[in-house]
Amino acid sequence: MENKISVVQGNPDNHTGNRCSDQFTPNESKNPPVLSGIVSPLIKWYRENKRILPWRDQNNAYYTWVSEIMLQQTRVEAVKPYFIRFITELPDVAALASCPEKKLMKLWEGLGYYNRVRNMQAAACTVVEEYGGKLPESYEKLVSLKGIGSYTAGAIASIAYGIPVPAVDGNVLRVVSRITESREDIMKQSVRRKMEQTLKEIMPSDCPGDFNQALMELGAVICVPNGQPKCQECPVQKICRAHLHDTTEDIPVKAPKKARKIENRTVLVIQDGERTAIQKRPDKGLLAGLYELPNVKGILSAEEAVKAVEKMNLEPLHIEELEPAKHIFSHIEWRMTGYRIRVSSLETNRNSKLIFADKKQSDRQYAIPAAFGAYVKYMKEETR
Ligand code: SF4
Repeated sequence: MENKISVVQGNPDNHTGNRCSDQFTPNESKNPPVLSGIVSPLIKWYRENKRILPWRDQNNAYYTWVSEIMLQQTRVEAVKPYFIRFITELPDVAALASCPEKKLMKLWEGLGYYNRVRNMQAAACTVVEEYGGKLPESYEKLVSLKGIGSYTAGAIASIAYGIPVPAVDGNVLRVVSRITESREDIMKQSVRRKMEQTLKEIMPSDCPGDFNQALMELGAVICVPNGQPKCQECPVQKICRAHLHDTTEDIPVKAPKKARKIENRTVLVIQDGERTAIQKRPDKGLLAGLYELPNVKGILSAEEAVKAVEKMNLEPLHIEELEPAKHIFSHIEWRMTGYRIRVSSLETNRNSKLIFADKKQSDRQYAIPAAFGAYVKYMKEETR
């Protein structure tokens, strides 16, 4: 696929709002010196070391928005090809607003958390209707759009428009907690809000985008979430209290999450040779509106699975048990067992919910979420 993005490296003048020199003037009077001291070394380090990313330094609020939504819960390397494909197909807000749902779900297929892209499209419609298709140059207006929280609004406002507002994500929470040696629970909204306020006060008004990205970048590549932080390579190691006091292992403090709900499911790969039965999920709830292999709650025995298929007015000829699989959502975990069931013909089914798709059709038209990946592979094998 052609990449129409031109990647521009290392030019700080490239941003609308980031035309600052090497002189940064945080407001030291209001803040602990420990934080005021990070501004200059951090920005210098960022400009010399930042990774080249397809959405970075493009001076395009839409690209910033798309990338930030994709990066929620997904690694940078995994996001790159999705991002390029997405903005090639949907190059601006208006294209996103008018994209047919099926195409949109296919473009997002594999990224998970499909509500994110549904919310993006709803917000894109608002931007087209109320702001002429251009994301508004106002933090307050951005944060009022569907699916845009304080972090994403801060990222768009500061990176694309040079507005001095913070963008506090998990990386920033970790980095700042370590620098200040804060033992407050970073899962609390009140802690996040306090950090936003503190960062707003030290943020250089002439290059807020670089400052925010520098904090995020430091958290992504140096002050990493898993394993030891790379303090010897860190531009703020002389200031960082957790490093100086050897407390990096204890910080950040995070209250344990509530245990996920476990749900058992049985997935049925029903085939008559070329085609496999799939169906659309309900319009609301988990994986709303996407496509799935037929499945039921609970772990069925082979006999029960055969009966379930017979209830669909299909005639099972052969059943094969498949390997168990697991998929983890944010609040729920599916533990699945699967059966591949050969039926005489899918045409005997009178249940209009079922769609009979071959591999090409499903790849082209029907977004089947990664939760079914362990069993979708049988669908593909069957039609090779
Ligand atoms: Fe993180 Fe170490 Fe840098 Fe402190 S010195 S911010 S702990 S990498």
